[in-house]
This record gives sequence, structure tokens and C-alpha cells, in this order.
Amino acid sequence: MPNKVKPNYRGAILQVAVPSPLRRVFDYLPLADQKALPGMRVKVSFGRQKLVGIVVDIADSSALDKNKLKPILAVLDSEPVLNESVFQLLIWAANYYQHPLGEVFAAALPAKLRAGSPLKKSIQIWSRKEPIAGAIKFPRKQAVRQKALLDFISSKKEVTAERCRLAGFSTQLLKQLSEKDLIESSLISENNAPTFEALPKAVEFNINLNNEQAKAVKTISKQLNNYSCFLLDGVTGSGKTEVYMRVMQQQLSKGLQCLVLVPEIGLTPQTISRFEERFDCPVVGLHSGLNETERLSAWTQAREGSAGIVIGTRSAIFTPLAKPGLIIVDEEHDSSFKQQDGFRYSARDLAVIRAREEQLCIVLGTATPSLESLHNARNGKFTHLKLSQRTGIEQPAAMEIVDISNTTLQEGFSEQLLYRIDKHIKHKNQVLVYINRRGFAPILNCQSCGWICECENCVAQFTVHANPASIRCHHCGSTAALPKYCPNCKSRDLSTIGVGTQRIESYLKKQFPHTPVIRIDRDSTRRKNSLADMLRQVQAGDPCILLGTQMLAKGHHFPNITLVAVLDADAGLFSADFRGQEHMGQTIVQVAGRAGRAERAGEVLIQTRHASHETLQSLTSGSFAEFSELQLKEREKALMPPFAHLCLLRAEAKEMKSALALLDRIADSCDRFCKHNLLEIEKLGPIPAPMEKRAGKYRVQLLLKSAKRGSLQALLSQLCIELEGIKYPRSLRFSIDVDPQDLI
Ligand code: ADP
Ligand code: ZN
Ligand code: ZN
Repeated sequence: MPNKVKPNYRGAILQVAVPSPLRRVFDYLPLADQKALPGMRVKVSFGRQKLVGIVVDIADSSALDKNKLKPILAVLDSEPVLNESVFQLLIWAANYYQHPLGEVFAAALPAKLRAGSPLKKSIQIWSRKEPIAGAIKFPRKQAVRQKALLDFISSKKEVTAERCRLAGFSTQLLKQLSEKDLIESSLISENNAPTFEALPKAVEFNINLNNEQAKAVKTISKQLNNYSCFLLDGVTGSGKTEVYMRVMQQQLSKGLQCLVLVPEIGLTPQTISRFEERFDCPVVGLHSGLNETERLSAWTQAREGSAGIVIGTRSAIFTPLAKPGLIIVDEEHDSSFKQQDGFRYSARDLAVIRAREEQLCIVLGTATPSLESLHNARNGKFTHLKLSQRTGIEQPAAMEIVDISNTTLQEGFSEQLLYRIDKHIKHKNQVLVYINRRGFAPILNCQSCGWICECENCVAQFTVHANPASIRCHHCGSTAALPKYCPNCKSRDLSTIGVGTQRIESYLKKQFPHTPVIRIDRDSTRRKNSLADMLRQVQAGDPCILLGTQMLAKGHHFPNITLVAVLDADAGLFSADFRGQEHMGQTIVQVAGRAGRAERAGEVLIQTRHASHETLQSLTSGSFAEFSELQLKEREKALMPPFAHLCLLRAEAKEMKSALALLDRIADSCDRFCKHNLLEIEKLGPIPAPMEKRAGKYRVQLLLKSAKRGSLQALLSQLCIELEGIKYPRSLRFSIDVDPQDLI
């Protein structure tokens, strides 16, 4: 790693990173009686505030007059909170993503530690009390849940509160059982926390790997003791998880921990149970559903080495591990691994950097590899392992294009599609209809004057929603009652254009009155447990039509679905975003992967007005590999990632003028620096962003592109130094996005 900090313990100046937008460390004097080392938290006064910072280095001298330096207020730790490797990873990430180090540290720490709470020294665990003679009486209403929790605790012997919550039991329930004296808690010191032994359970291990799986496991196993990155490219249902588990098993049995990153939606209690069923070791989950006490506890178990498996979403990549043995990134192509605001890091990319730093083996698994990872596999940085067969007996779903160029659609459906849906339902199968647009309709317009209902805060149309009838902006969240007449010409002749999930739901209910229609999107799943309830209904297996957005593309198994209908492929085909087609291909293949997972073959129908489009053809008549090949060629021609590196500078302000002025000034600096240093960096902009106004702010962007990461990094570092000297109003927001996911 570049820019490694060499600690110098003899010095007398503490260099502290504090959570502030300033991209530098601040000098403080140590306290005579409290030793502070790099990686420890200290409390400091910063302007008028008191903040928790992290000691980054200890220096002999300061550029400031020593008399002007303030002493720190307190040392909060007796040992570094972050181990050396995570500490270095964060310093690297702050440099690479050009984000203030203090904020990077803050993003990596659980909120409690960020606020100055002590590192937890004990873990609370619950166990069942010896039952006293006589039947246990539960008040009728809560009986079921309380009984279920009691059984759960009995089955686990010892269990933490967050593990109960993860299994769907509230803290309230735990309290009730404890009040009834049915369970008891004890505190165990984290130093005496149970160590894990990973004993495979015989039943599960009876699965015989197929040839491809066996080869993958063998190849990975040879490289388990040092850095090596594998791209496990396996179609849905090809048994990737089985491969992960075989490799994990080897490391766990040596007492080494495994860190598993999953997209947010993939981290269901089922995923965790799957690991728990296989391994006799503590599994902790780190995700947004935890409260802060639970998060700290899970984090501590990872840090202390008492958790064998740490499974989490994006930010879990910053979890320190006492005995790291393996990193797995499941669904590596998923864009949720990229943080889209604040500290804009890619957890997948940092996972690879971390693995290299800690000399670990890392496996990136997916059915639809990102073009970046494929490129890395091609140039030898990653080892490409393929699983081309599903483990069941079923065939992969066949894809077919439905040409709708000369067809009138009924609420988004062609005759042909309706006919096929009917056929599958009559055969007592299930159907999945995919459209990535929630709400009732994307456009409300006036038939008399052509007015279109737009959000005042954004340059975007309002989406019409039903129940209650309203208009909502999907970009800033503003909402209003459905207008009764056109504000422009007062006509009452308003109509909706296009279809969203709500509209399709009511249409399908009319068309197929005897078949349940289950809609899954962000609106229908807002209520707690509603998603789980709906999934259960589908899994029960009776004929139904499952309708939804990309929430359906991820992770769930629907063995009885035999038909997948993609209503509109054209949105992705002609997206303004350079990753639009890649994402479209991934989504279609992922959605298709939900079909025919059991013994029934599935079919996938894709409606489009551009049936002969090369991209769609490569996807449907070829394989995802052929599709990716074509995409890579186009990216190479256009000199876009992974053949070039991007950085997007954004400015947002109440007026377009001030945002433009800042980026103009930065663009001048770019020109000067590149000319002076003979750097080849292409500059596009400043120009208004494709979405020119959002949430009341005008948005301008400047895109920097270079074949060399190093050149881009040199320029960005220089720009950040200059930026500190530029005064701009506080209302103006500026951000740097290295390796941006999208350019919208
Ligand atoms: P993926 O993660 O690639 O979608 P999974 O690992 O979830 O696939 O495997 C799909 C199903 O196939 C699981 O139920 C798993 O237990 C089963 N499975 C995996 N490998 C085998 C195998 N070699 N033989 C039989 N069943 C297998
Ligand atoms: Zn009008
Ligand atoms: Zn808006």
C-alpha cells in the first residue's frame, strides 16, 4: 500500500484525524500520564466542539508553534481500536477516494465507539434456566412468540441478544422471558469468549460436489495461505454457496475467521441460518437492522476472534478480525457495494485491497460478473473459475424475445405475453412479471395542452401513485395530492402515460381474477415482515403471479416459477448511463435465474421494440459470457471503464451559476496541472448533470478520465490541496466520486 504511515513513538506531537471535512490531520500535545498510540481514540477540543478523533501518527515536531498547540483532553483506549491492517486500509481508502481521513475512520467505527463509549469488555449471553416443575404458563396472546423464542434459546444453549433479533425475536420478548424467570443472562469477558471449532455436520456434508465445484474448491484450496483472488462465475443454482462453505470449512477448522460480504437484501436470516446449520461456530451478522448496542457487540466478537463467521453488508469490510482467514464477496456485481454518498467507497474493491494487505484468499462470486472483474480475470489479476451447470436436473431457462415494435400493448402487455401467462397458470405453475418501475404510472399529462406534471424541486416527472391517489417524486421524496385539473390550461382532461407496478397489479387482477397477484416493490414491503409474508405465500407453491421490481432479482428461490416476463427491456437498452446495458443484462439474467430452479424448466420472455438490437441478441441467443464480451468490446472502443478510470466531480447549489463557477475554477486547475506534469487526462465538462436539478439544487459535473489510475490520483490530490484554499458558500456542496457507479 502506498502512503503507509510509519509510526514514530518517540515523538511528542500527536497527529489526530478528527471527523471534519478538512482533508488533513491536526496536531495536539499528549498527556503526560496517558499513553496514546496510533489507532487509539482520543478526545480533543476542536474549535468550540469536543470531538473523538483517532491518533494517526506521532511526530517529533509540528509546523505550528508548540506553544499554540492544545493538549488532548483524554485518551479513550488502552489499545488501538482498529488493528494495524484495517487502520492501514482506511488510510489507503482515504487517499484513494479523496475523503477526509477523520470521516473515513468515523464511517468505519460502530456509532457507540464513534461517540466515545469504551470498547466493550464483556459480552452478554442468554441461556435457558433449569425448568421448575409444573407447566409454563404463557398469556395467550404472546404465547406463540415467547414459546418460539424459548425453544430457539434452548436449541442454541447460549445465544446473544442480537442473534435472537436476527432470528426475528424482539428484545422485548427476551425481556418478557427473563421476567418470567425462564432464561438468564450472564456476562462473559470477551477475553474468555468461547472460541469456535468448526465441525461440519455430517448430513450436510453428504452432498457430493460435481466436477466443476470440486475443481473450484481444489484450485482455491491450493492458494488459501496467501493473497489470491478468485472470480467464481457460476450460473444461479450452480452451488456457489457450497463452494464457499467447503473453503470456509478449511479455514474455520484452523481457527481462522471468514468475512462474508453480501448485498443488503441478501442478508436474510436464512443466509445466516444456512451457515449456522453447517458450522458449529458463532456467526455474527452486521447490517442496517441492528441497533447500536447489538452492532458494537457483533463488531467486538469479530475483533476479538470469538465469531468464526462475520457476515455483513458494505461497511462490514472495515471490521477488524483477530484471526482473519478468508474473504468472500457474494454477488460481487451488485451496485449496493458502492457507497453513493459521503465516503464513496467500493466495498468489493476494498475487499480485494484488504485481502492483498492481509495476505488472504478472496473469492468474488456471482452469476453475472461485473465487467471490471471479468477484465481483471482476463488480464490475470483474478483466477476465473466457472460453474456452468445447475446442481438440480432442470435445464437453464430459455430466453426468447417478444417483438412489440408493431404491437399495441394493453397496460404494458402484448397479446402473446398474456397468452403465455395464461398457459403457465393453467398448468398450475407460477409466473414472475418484472418491471423496474414502482407506482401507478410514470407520467401525468394534460390532454389539452400537453403539460406534464413535474416536481418543482427536481428536473423530473412526478410518478402517479394509487392508494391514496397522489403524485410522488422518486428523487426527492416530495409528495402531493393528485391534481384535479391542469394548472396551465385548467382542463380536467388529465391522463397517465406508461405503467408502473401498481397499475399492472390491478390490470393482472382483472385479467386473471382467479389467480393471486403478489406485488413486491419498495411501497408494498414497507410494513415490517410484509416481504417475508409475501415470499412465504409464493414459496407455498400454489399458482400465482409474482410482480415486482429489481427487489425480485436478488437471492430468493422460487422453485415453482416457470415463466419470467420482462415487460420493458428498452429502458436499459437506451439508458443515459454508461453502465445501463451491463445492468440490464445482469438484471435479466438474475431475474431469469429465479425460474425453474426445481425440476421444471423455465422460460423467459423479454418484450422489446428493438428485437434485433445486438445487445439483446447476444444475451438471448448467446450466454452471459457472450453478452459481456460484446459489452467489453464497446467499453474498449469508447475508452470507458474498465479500460479507463473515471472520477466524477460534482457541485450542487441553489443557483446553477455558483456550482458552475466552482467547477470552472477546478477545471482550470486541472488544465494547468496536467500541462505542467504532462499528464494525459481527458476532461468532460463542467456541464449540467443529466439530472440537472434534484431536491431543489442545481447539479453540475466535471468528469475526469484517464488510462492511468496514478495520473488521476496525482491530479486529485493536487485539486484537494487547492480546494482547501478556495472559499465557497456553505450551501454549495462539492463531492469527489472515484470510480463512480453512475454518471447521473
Ligand atoms: P448458487 O449460490 O450458485 O445459486 P446454491 O449454492 O444456493 O447455488 O445451490 C443451490 C442448491 O443446490 C442448494 O440447495 C444446494 O444445497 C444444492 N447443491 C449445491 N451443490 C450441490 C451438489 N453438488 N449436489 C446436489 N445439490 C447441490
Ligand atoms: Zn393543460
Ligand atoms: Zn423531486
